Amino acid sequence: MSQFWSPIVHDLTPYVPGEQPRIADLVKLNTNENPYGPSPNVLGVLKDRANDALRLYPDPHGTALANVIAKRHGVTTANVFLGNGSDEVLAHVFMALLRQNKPLRMPDITYSFYPAYCKLYGIAYEAIPVNAHFEVALDDYAAEGGPIIFANPNAPTGNLLPLSAIEKLLKRVPNRVVVVDEAYIDFGGKTAIPLTHQYPNLLVVQTFSKARSLAGLRVGFAVGDVALIDGLERVKNSFNSYPLGALAQAGAVASFEDDNWFRTTREKVMNSRHDLTLALEKRGFEVLPSHANFILARHPGHDGAALAQALRDRAVLVRHFKLPRIDQFLRISIGTEAQCEALLKALDAILGK
Ligand code: PMP
Repeated sequence: MSQFWSPIVHDLTPYVPGEQPRIADLVKLNTNENPYGPSPNVLGVLKDRANDALRLYPDPHGTALANVIAKRHGVTTANVFLGNGSDEVLAHVFMALLRQNKPLRMPDITYSFYPAYCKLYGIAYEAIPVNAHFEVALDDYAAEGGPIIFANPNAPTGNLLPLSAIEKLLKRVPNRVVVVDEAYIDFGGKTAIPLTHQYPNLLVVQTFSKARSLAGLRVGFAVGDVALIDGLERVKNSFNSYPLGALAQAGAVASFEDDNWFRTTREKVMNSRHDLTLALEKRGFEVLPSHANFILARHPGHDGAALAQALRDRAVLVRHFKLPRIDQFLRISIGTEAQCEALLKALDAILGK
C-alpha cells in the first residue's frame, strides 16, 4: 500500500506465476516449461545474432517472424499479431477486443491470468462452470451475452475440445468475439486457426513457450481476421512499439526451421504424459485426461496442499492452486523420464509404499 499509487492499483489482483527457485537438483514440475531445451539451431542463431546490430531497434512489425507463422498456418502476414509472450498478446486482446458492454464469459476453472486482466482493465466477467468431468461446456456460452474466451486445451485441467464443438459455438455467436488460447495445442490437439478464414470473430492465440521450448525468449502470437489484428495493433502501438527484441524474433524464426526437433521433443512429452498418468493411477490418483504438457491429479487419501508441500520438502516442485473445485488437485508438468521417476519415488515415500 502506498499513498503514491494510482487508485486502480489498490484494487488489482495480480497473477502469481509459479516460483522459479534456484535450488540445486530441484525437480521442477511447476510451470509447464518444456523439459527439453530448444533446438540447437535456435541456440546457434541466437549466438550469431548477439552482435553489433543490437544497437538498432528491432523490426517493430516482426515481419520475418509473422511471415513464417503466416506461411505455416495458411494465412497472410496481416492476419498475424506478435507479442512478448502470449501473456502480453492476451493483455492486448483483453483491452482491444474483450472490453465490451456485456460481461466476458470464461470458464470458472481456467488460466488464472484472465481474471487478473479483467481487474486491470475493468472488465466484468461471468465464470461459466466447467462440467462434472471438468470439461468446458461450450453450449453454456452461446446464450445472449458478451465476448468469450477459453483455453484449448484448458488449463490447468488439460481437457481438449474438438474443433467441431468450437465451430458449433462460432455458428451460434457470429456477432461476438471468441478467443481461443491454444498455449498447449501442440501436445495432441488440432488448432482452430483454419476456422479463422470462415469466422471473422475468431481469434486464436499461441505461444513459443511450451512445445517450442522458448519460454525464456518471450514470444507469443495471435491469428485472426485483419480487422481483429488491426484493433490489437492499435492497442500495442499505444503501449510499446517494440515488444519483441531482435534476438526473440530471430530465435522464434529459427525454431520453425527445425521441425524435427519440435516433433521429437513433443512426442517424448506426450509419451511421458501417458506413462506418468498410468503410474499415478496405479498409486491411487485420479488423473484428468490431458492433452497438454501437464496433468491435474488428486489422491482420495491425501490433501492437495499437504501433498504439494511434502513433495517440495523432497525438492520436487509441482503447482497447487488454492481455488474452489481444484484445491485437492496437483498440477504436474510433464518432465523428462528421469524427472517423472524422481516424482514417483518421492510420492512413494510420502504415500508410504
Ligand atoms: N495461456 C495459458 C493457458 C498458459 O498456461 C500460459 C502459461 N502460463 C500462457 C497463456 C502464457 O504463456 P507465455 O506468456 O509464456 O506465452
